[in-house]
Amino acid sequence: MLALILASLAAAQGQALRLEVPHEPGLEQITVTWNGHERPLVRQGETWMALLGVDLDTEAGAHEAELSLTYADGRSAQRTEPIAVSAAEFPTTELTVEPRYVELSPEDQQRANRESGEIAQIYATVTPEAHWSEPFLVPIPGVSGGRNFGHRRIFNGQPRAPHSGADLRAATGTPILAANRGRVVLAKELFFSGNAVFVDHGLGVYTVYLHLSRIDVEPGQMVGRGQQVGLAGATGRVTGPHLHWGARIVDARVDPFSLLSVYE
Ligand SMILES: [Zn+2]
Repeated sequence: MLALILASLAAAQGQALRLEVPHEPGLEQITVTWNGHERPLVRQGETWMALLGVDLDTEAGAHEAELSLTYADGRSAQRTEPIAVSAAEFPTTELTVEPRYVELSPEDQQRANRESGEIAQIYATVTPEAHWSEPFLVPIPGVSGGRNFGHRRIFNGQPRAPHSGADLRAATGTPILAANRGRVVLAKELFFSGNAVFVDHGLGVYTVYLHLSRIDVEPGQMVGRGQQVGLAGATGRVTGPHLHWGARIVDARVDPFSLLSVYE
């Protein structure tokens, strides 16, 4: 009987975490079910790996991920991995934007609904391989932090969805770089997000770059880590020029800066 040694996992609401399982002889496949979604782990040398996201609205407390291991001789094993989720502080922010982004015309509402369906479909797709192998980087070199991740937001006096990314200070025209290698799955203007680029890194990990003044990539294209995807701007629902950098792991909204630390 082989022992499976796992460090016990802990993360705050809105953080990414790295799940690792040591390889064993004959082990052919591992999947993990977390937050109701099953996805594969990828083998990298003597370790199997997946990134898990703790959605910003996950209840604080004890949670479990279910591991399913399949061996070449047909055996399989199920294991439970405890994950402790701690509470994060998400303040409330009041913002003033153009009224048309708060009181939507019927046409704009229809468009926003259509686009949110399209985005949901992208996030529901888990590419079963990792397109990346190196650590994630910040899309604007030299910027060490973002603002407002998870903030509860009130636009023109009306409550809206929490802020699902981090805002990075950036003048219009600042080059925006892909945080890691991946495939561009969306590159176009959206109602709320303005000019938007979505990158699928594989294994359910996505990063998004919003409010751009220019898009430099096309859907279907592979981009390298640090490759320019566009220029910062102030398109869509904004109060001024900046980069909105977002990250999803399957359906979990996580602080993109937490992707940087999953290799530490
Ligand atoms: Zn933002």
